[in-house]
Amino acid sequence: RVAVVGAGVSGLAATKCCLDEGLEPTCFEQSQDLGGLWRYTEHIEAGRPSLYPSVISNTSKEMSAFSDFPFPEHFPVFLPNALLLDYLRRYAEHFGLREHIRFGTTVVSIRKRPDFATTGQWNVVTEAGGKQTSDVFDAVMVCSGNFWEPSLPLQCFPGIERFRGQYFHSRQYKHPDVFQGKRVLVVGMGNSGVDIAVEASRVAAKVTISTSRGAWLLSRVFERGYPWDMILNTRLMSLIKTNLPGPLSWWLINYKVNRWFNHENYGLQPEKSWLVREPVLNDDLPSYILTGRITIKPGVKEFKDNSVLFHNCPEEEPIDMVVFCTGYLVSFPFLEESVVRVENKHASLYKYVFPTHLQKPTLAVLGLIKPLGAIMPVAEMQARWVSRVFKGLCQLPSQSVMEKEVNEKKKNQVQWFGLTFDEVLKTEWLVYLDTLASFIGAKPSVLGLLCTDPWLALTIFFGPCSPYQYRLGGPGRWEGARQAILTQWDRVLKPTRTRVPAGSSSPFPSLLIVVGFLLLLAAVIFGF
Ligand code: NAP
Repeated sequence: RVAVVGAGVSGLAATKCCLDEGLEPTCFEQSQDLGGLWRYTEHIEAGRPSLYPSVISNTSKEMSAFSDFPFPEHFPVFLPNALLLDYLRRYAEHFGLREHIRFGTTVVSIRKRPDFATTGQWNVVTEAGGKQTSDVFDAVMVCSGNFWEPSLPLQCFPGIERFRGQYFHSRQYKHPDVFQGKRVLVVGMGNSGVDIAVEASRVAAKVTISTSRGAWLLSRVFERGYPWDMILNTRLMSLIKTNLPGPLSWWLINYKVNRWFNHENYGLQPEKSWLVREPVLNDDLPSYILTGRITIKPGVKEFKDNSVLFHNCPEEEPIDMVVFCTGYLVSFPFLEESVVRVENKHASLYKYVFPTHLQKPTLAVLGLIKPLGAIMPVAEMQARWVSRVFKGLCQLPSQSVMEKEVNEKKKNQVQWFGLTFDEVLKTEWLVYLDTLASFIGAKPSVLGLLCTDPWLALTIFFGPCSPYQYRLGGPGRWEGARQAILTQWDRVLKPTRTRVPAGSSSPFPSLLIVVGFLLLLAAVIFGF
């Protein structure tokens, strides 16, 4: 019996993977519906994430799909939140997940049972309709998300207490009409900050973004109009990124991201360009900077009554309204700190999933990672791995080995890249997926396929690493995986190629050129 906490993206994947492995999941969802983050509500509900209605996914539908359930071909390539929720509903329907979800049920506490050392069991206390119930579970998957508790570090903004204008956290934001005619300051250049600044600038008198570190800005519409992640998240690119000497690899990334526009000229260049920072996805910002609708400034030095001073800028900027787009805290109020300790937005978990010190590996945290790519396939892969660990089909290394890895990763990253804990959560998407896939025996073998199915092997190596790759073999093999991979570009073009006859929609001309480099590939693969 597995308790799954939350029925968002991770919770649905967890429930489905438990069923696939013959485990018995009970998914507890505090609200009355599934979808988690992606279920937009006009009102902000305590303990739940809150979206603004214009949110569109940052990753394309082919890269974001669960690995055995492609998005419908007529869906747009990047999903407005309502369509993403629609997809999640279809997924739940298709795999019969709803009957395993207890809606309106809040998990109050999860505690080890006295005989935990031998049984690995947990007491799970839940509350529904004002009544508490305690159940025993053999294992727990924590899928409660990490975008519901705002981080509002006002202590970092001297003078904020005397500022006479209005300020609020991005979690409070719904519609741009609040900015009408105002001089707006957006603090923080994450995806929320840029989205909100762009929307505000359509009605505000003036919009300024303050960023202490800058960021790489990508367009969803990448090279030759293809989705960014289908071009950047390929096995070839990953091989290059992870094997080229550091400076060369960063030069390549700089070169790629600066092809759209020169980040330095737009005031966006990340302060330390070698830092791994989650890229910001926005198609409008550069043109809004060019047309003077948005101005970029450094970090805030001090607030005054009706204005703000920025670092290295002598003039004060008059401001009426501030939106703190300063991200979210991570917390698990139903868990004891001794089980999962969160420090500086970071929990020391083996492969971002398992606490290293439990006598039995019967508790896992899903989705607590910021990979540089779509989160849905990552959460699903974590769930596939975890359910096999719970079942005893996969073993974890010893506690000391896990702790060594967690600590060394932390230490090395801080040492070599100057990363804060926040950044430690961000990781190479494809490498991470491959690592977990290899644990469960679902990592595709490009070499093996080269002998048996060369066209598929080339598509997998040079083309986007769409999640269907992880269903070609191993446990949870899906018959439709090969076809889904070979038709992925068709589903991308379907909703946009609406003026040309259907048919010759081969959107992958680069593959033809690539075949010319087959010999080169052989050399690369043998190195691989
Ligand atoms: P975020 O990515 O955590 O960014 C928060 C930003 O706040 C930081 O990058 C930093 O910006 C600033 N900040 C944090 N602490 C600060 C401090 N003490 N002082 C000054 N500035 C501080 O938060 P978010 O933008 O709300 O995004 C949260 C998650 O949701 C992200 O994973 C994001 O990708 C996702 N998201 C997705 C979409 C979408 O899919 N369309 C939309 C919105 C958000 P500076 O370094 O620039 O100062």
